[in-house]
Amino acid sequence: MARYRGPVCRLCRRSGEKLYLKGEKCFTDKCPFEKRPYPPGQHGPTKKSVKLSIYGQQLREKQKVKWMYGMLEAQFKRFFRIAQSMPGNTGENFLSLLERRLDNVVFRAGFAKSRRQARQFVRHGHVRVNGHKVDIPSYLVKPGDIVEVAEDFKNNVELKGALEMNRPSPSWLKVDKENLKAEVLRVPQRDDITHPINERLIVEFYSR
Ligand code: SF4
Repeated sequence: MARYRGPVCRLCRRSGEKLYLKGEKCFTDKCPFEKRPYPPGQHGPTKKSVKLSIYGQQLREKQKVKWMYGMLEAQFKRFFRIAQSMPGNTGENFLSLLERRLDNVVFRAGFAKSRRQARQFVRHGHVRVNGHKVDIPSYLVKPGDIVEVAEDFKNNVELKGALEMNRPSPSWLKVDKENLKAEVLRVPQRDDITHPINERLIVEFYSR
């Protein structure tokens, strides 16, 4: 599946908030958003970019979450349609599905500095699920699954750099940083997602 290949810091500036797409750089003063916290473009912040219509707010929230999870529109929409067909709250189901993506699990477990890097690790075959190689970033994990780093990748410099960031892992994952393994304890819930997201706007966007 294709992915966005353009400059990612522009996406944070476009969203109007930090999306933490670059790993370490996001936590330093080299983060471009710290210097220019307004949308990219020749003329700096404009009235149009500051005051958004209802549709603009819905679109921005949808784009923000799509960029956070490193997805393109077709796949993002497909996930939304799956969430719509599930019982319960569509917005919450949608976020839970996004969290269950294998690249996100690798990132949440602290085995990669960013989702982008996690996706690369998965695509390059460095991740195992229940002992089998899975190289599909959108693979959905389920409770009881064991996600681990391949034996021959455990000494990788990038992986070690990610572990040194020492990010806390969510309560739905049991992470063993010694053996580079994570067990999925349960399906992620809405409260497990700490980044501010207004999923209602996304539901409204796709329900137009
Ligand atoms: Fe966003 Fe990180 Fe780039 Fe800052 S460094 S603009 S948080 S991706």
